[in-house]
Amino acid sequence: MIASCRKEEGIRPVVEKTKAERKKSQPKADPVKKNSVSQGKQNVSSGTKKKEQPDSPGVSAIYQGKIAIVLDDWGYNLNNVELLKQIDAPLTLAILPRRAYSVRIAELAKELNKEAILHLPMEPHREKQYQLEPDTLLITMSKQEILKILEMDFKSVPGLKGISNHMGSQATESEDLMKVIFEELKKKKLYFLDSLTGKTVGKKLALEVKLPYARRSVFLDNKSDAEYIQGQLEALAKMAKQEGFAVGIGHDRKRTLEVLVQAIPELKKRGFKFVYTSELVE
Ligand SMILES: [Zn+2]
Repeated sequence: MIASCRKEEGIRPVVEKTKAERKKSQPKADPVKKNSVSQGKQNVSSGTKKKEQPDSPGVSAIYQGKIAIVLDDWGYNLNNVELLKQIDAPLTLAILPRRAYSVRIAELAKELNKEAILHLPMEPHREKQYQLEPDTLLITMSKQEILKILEMDFKSVPGLKGISNHMGSQATESEDLMKVIFEELKKKKLYFLDSLTGKTVGKKLALEVKLPYARRSVFLDNKSDAEYIQGQLEALAKMAKQEGFAVGIGHDRKRTLEVLVQAIPELKKRGFKFVYTSELVE
């Protein structure tokens, strides 16, 4: 299941934003202006007010940009929790609903000052055969069916701040399905992180209904290879520097976490600021 998720979530090109969007999300590394832009966004951490400083004490690097790292597919086991504990930075954990350890991971997220979101299984295009998670939201489902599943899923990730799509290349193209989900998110004051697995209607719809929305900039671990992951982190850092912020999505995998344990302190030293996804939603 994890492997198929990676393929589905990795089918989009690494860099998503158009030049026009980059321009819009300026300034590059102008801390004062960026701060004014981010007013009114949801901030999880109370320490975010003086956030335009590198957060390693004694580090004098020039501020480079904000990075949110999201780790997908938690809930099946606790195998990588020890590695997670070694990462001293805000991270967002995207937890699959109603798995053996969904609740436990959500609790751990709270204990470890990480942000928990629901990683909602959504229908992929079926040109390849994917093994679907139980109760994957399908475009053929009725509104009642969707709401029933959402209700159960929300309950299984206590303290969640938002949701993201697991797979979903098909489902995120469906305005009808997405509208039902977004209406529920509005009611519950949650944000949507678009994993960008297809030609999503997410951004357009989020603007229409004024739902806090963020989207993936870079997939970090389409290959479970340390050098590859480091390269993707560099691409993410470059984008954060150019645009002011970037969202990187990786997975609950040993190799990914091992690379992050090493790389995050280095990126902090270089002036990058790690934030929760909720600090980047617009
Ligand atoms: Zn996933």
